[in-house]
Amino acid sequence: SQVFVLAKRPVGVPELEDFDLVSLQEDSLGDGELRIEPVTFSVDPYLRGRMSDARSYVAPFEVGAPIASAGIGKIMESRAEGFAVGDFVRGEFPWASSFVLGTAGLWKLPTDLEVDPSAYLGVLGMTGLTAYVGLVVLGKVTAEDEVLVTGAAGAVGSVVGQLARIFGARVVGSAGGSAKVEQLAKLGFTAGIDYRSSDFAQALDVSFPDGISLFFDNVGGKQFEAGLHRMKDFGRILSCGAISQYNDTELPPGPRGLEGLVVRRRLRIQGFIVSDHQSHYREYLSKATQWIRDGQLQSLETIADGFTELPTAFVSLFSGGNIGKMLVNATSS
Ligand code: NDP
Repeated sequence: SQVFVLAKRPVGVPELEDFDLVSLQEDSLGDGELRIEPVTFSVDPYLRGRMSDARSYVAPFEVGAPIASAGIGKIMESRAEGFAVGDFVRGEFPWASSFVLGTAGLWKLPTDLEVDPSAYLGVLGMTGLTAYVGLVVLGKVTAEDEVLVTGAAGAVGSVVGQLARIFGARVVGSAGGSAKVEQLAKLGFTAGIDYRSSDFAQALDVSFPDGISLFFDNVGGKQFEAGLHRMKDFGRILSCGAISQYNDTELPPGPRGLEGLVVRRRLRIQGFIVSDHQSHYREYLSKATQWIRDGQLQSLETIADGFTELPTAFVSLFSGGNIGKMLVNATSS
């Protein structure tokens, strides 16, 4: 078996040289352990934070040690009760082609699958739950809302937009490039803005003549500042991520005018981390499964082919290489 380890901590935008593929000693199974072959890996922006040694809500990866991310795998050998050979499980997996794990933190996928198992890493997994927690649980979206979502063609953003439509709100999304903006229309967004080829602040003036009441921000930076200045009185801002800043080596400037606007317009800005809201997963899963059945919620994915593509797929998140959830199919080479 082989495993990707962190060769060195990335400085700025991560590069393929920050990862090393090394051979992995195949352990024999202890009591309560499983041998798993990964089927699909999720690669996620938050892994960038774990590659640096700054204090955060998850522990950093160590240099020379395996990278790990969410994945779906097939049990090849089992010495754990309740887990049989052939079962599919979801968990946090090392970036390895085969590995031995205990069962802590593993979740067995339902056997009566109506969707591709990979959906449990995206629309029916962590990123779907993130959209639901931010927009519905904390944001309390209603049909009266005028919603802006940045990073709208990505894993979280594409679900935020679809949920906003399900709740009857008007929703405008921003994404990089015309292909992504076309995709937003197919997902039912009221409108899409290509933030790369437009004056974003001006585009917001056109899209939100009465202002934004609920802003779901995945991106931070310039788009956050522009959205902030277009907020309605008593608007709510859900800060989900700031991917435009994850590779910064210095503190970014702005946002300009923040304090004054927050007071004058009586805004509320709330940051959140999905892992604090796991208690909503069952409720989300049953609702989202029904929305998929009804054709109201689509699963959007970009799948890189082959285990060895893991670092490339991860790095491509920072240049917008994905539409929907970025995944790696580990079974093909
Ligand atoms: P995405 O699927 O949205 O992938 C990342 C996307 O970000 C890219 O496709 C790209 O889209 C966009 N992007 C990359 N660099 C920049 C940049 N410099 N400026 C603007 N856009 C950029 O990832 P996720 O849906 O998994 O995550 C979206 C955000 O949500 C991230 O900030 C992530 O950290 C956060 N997150 C937060 C969670 C929480 O619990 N709070 C949980 C999960 C995710 P484009 O081509 O449109 O630029």
